[in-house]
Amino acid sequence: MKRNILLVLVAAMLSRCTPATGEMDIFIKNGIVYDGIDSLPKLVSIGIKGDRIVYVGNQEKEDIPTRRTIDAQGLIVAPGFIDTHTHADVELGSPSESDNKPFLFQGITTVVVGNDGSSLFPISKYSKIYEDQGIGTNVIFLVGQGTIRERVMGKVDRKATPDEVLSMQDLVKQEMDAGAFGMSTGLFYAPGSYATTQEVISLAKVVSKNHGIYDTHLRDEGCYSIGLVAAVEEAVEIGEKANIPIHISHIKCLGREVWKRSDSIIKIVEEANKRGVEVTANQYPYEASATGLQAAVVPRWAESGGKDSLFIRYSDPNLKPRILEGTRQNIELRGGPEKLLIVNSEYEAYEGKTLGELSESMELNPNEAVFEILKKGYARVASFSIDPYDIENFMQQEWVVTGSDGNTGHPRKYGAFPRKYKKYVKGGTIKLSDFINRSTSKTAQILRIPDRGAIQVGNYADIIIFNPETFGDRADYQNPFQLSEGLEYSIINGKISVENGGYTEKLNGRILKKE
Ligand SMILES: [Zn+2]
Repeated sequence: MKRNILLVLVAAMLSRCTPATGEMDIFIKNGIVYDGIDSLPKLVSIGIKGDRIVYVGNQEKEDIPTRRTIDAQGLIVAPGFIDTHTHADVELGSPSESDNKPFLFQGITTVVVGNDGSSLFPISKYSKIYEDQGIGTNVIFLVGQGTIRERVMGKVDRKATPDEVLSMQDLVKQEMDAGAFGMSTGLFYAPGSYATTQEVISLAKVVSKNHGIYDTHLRDEGCYSIGLVAAVEEAVEIGEKANIPIHISHIKCLGREVWKRSDSIIKIVEEANKRGVEVTANQYPYEASATGLQAAVVPRWAESGGKDSLFIRYSDPNLKPRILEGTRQNIELRGGPEKLLIVNSEYEAYEGKTLGELSESMELNPNEAVFEILKKGYARVASFSIDPYDIENFMQQEWVVTGSDGNTGHPRKYGAFPRKYKKYVKGGTIKLSDFINRSTSKTAQILRIPDRGAIQVGNYADIIIFNPETFGDRADYQNPFQLSEGLEYSIINGKISVENGGYTEKLNGRILKKE
């Protein structure tokens, strides 16, 4: 009741808005509108013409000529979600998957690709492919530091020479000029991990000159190498020395040894922000992380040069015991073989089984089973190694936005945003307006995306309408490919992509390029 009075009040205040003029293409009325910025919802109507929002106010539809009216009675209207971290790169280029449905049905209207230091190269080529074929959501490119390093140096574990640094800087500049919004690193992964902090700073300086951002998968999210705290400090140092905003991807405390350390990480970030280093983060709302089995448990030194080199070393009786011991330790750091679930494998029989189960059926030790599995091809694992305390603690920070990290096999690809709503907004961890703000306008501000992320006159019309009762995820670890439910409408660049809960088969996304 109280809320209704509030809504009426806000509506009354807004009724003096500028009147709408001219015919509109779409008019959304009767919805509960969260504009992405204000903490209070408004009962306002929204007018769209072409690809832009041209009206926000209280006029009745009868006063305004409109081609199409959407009655959003009882539904929530919000800016389209912006997903800061995805692995949709390849799918967006594939004719059968370029609709980007797993993301679209979460209410996402813009995805970032090129995360974790790995990007399609060159961006100019792939943006042309996306453009020619059409894409279901907007897309933003980042240039991957690992990709650039591999092009210049291969997959080797050594310091870059000054000439190599220059070559890498040239390639970063080329990709920024092609429209990238920034550079990503995956300092946990080979070959990105072989770069020193100084090398990364040298490249970040080029990005900074182009007003881009620095997005990072930290060198260590647990205690695998330098430790989580030192890895966050490294990111802050890169921000300070390269004079660039830092965005930490999928912030978490990975592994029992670092559980409940979120408080100290939050402190480091807050202090950096006070000193004027802009540090933000994104997060997915799940207790399991997911990555390649090899990346998760095989020691980095052993895979220098790539997978073939790994297996050459593994067959060397002098090196094999060291590789197995390092692998054993990493399995323990992730909570043991029972906590590692194969969610995706080139050898399908492995899917849905834990490393513990597979090693038993192979009659091998878990560390040995890893190499049997890898011999059959790439395998991805979900690793149940994040504590709920840290998830909620990070989520409540105003500098932490939503990012799915969506990749095949983990339910987050189909469910991250709706799950955050269903579990953490409805569960009381965060407010609805904060969830929306940190999935839309705050994200646009971090990534420096102009004219998107808020329902405001003049902005692009990326708007979603969802049912507050039913909006939620359906994907889980057993069935990770279930589209989310409860999204009634998605409008992207002023065109309808989801209508009454169904896909319109229209590829309304655009490639957003940094000007
Ligand atoms: Zn990552």
